[in-house]
Amino acid sequence: MRGELSRTEQALAAAEEREAATTPPQPPEWVVERGIGVSRLPARVHTGDCWDTGNRCTPADPEQIRRLLTLGVPACIHCRSDTALGVLE
Ligand SMILES: [Zn+2]
Repeated sequence: MRGELSRTEQALAAAEEREAATTPPQPPEWVVERGIGVSRLPARVHTGDCWDTGNRCTPADPEQIRRLLTLGVPACIHCRSDTALGVLE
């Protein structure tokens, strides 16, 4: 029992050390929101700090976002990622 406890404590301490050693990850600058269904095609594109990105988002670089917008993937109406990217005025 005592051994179990100390193992848990060690694991916790190790986790805390890891957390202290790594800087928090930067939020991605752009994210792609995946649609639902089998295809999971991109549904919308967002800026990284949008509050409405949902939970099916993957980080993307500006080139990917620009290409998706060109392909007709709509920009989010809240963060206006198209405007932020300078695709549309
Ligand atoms: Zn958005």
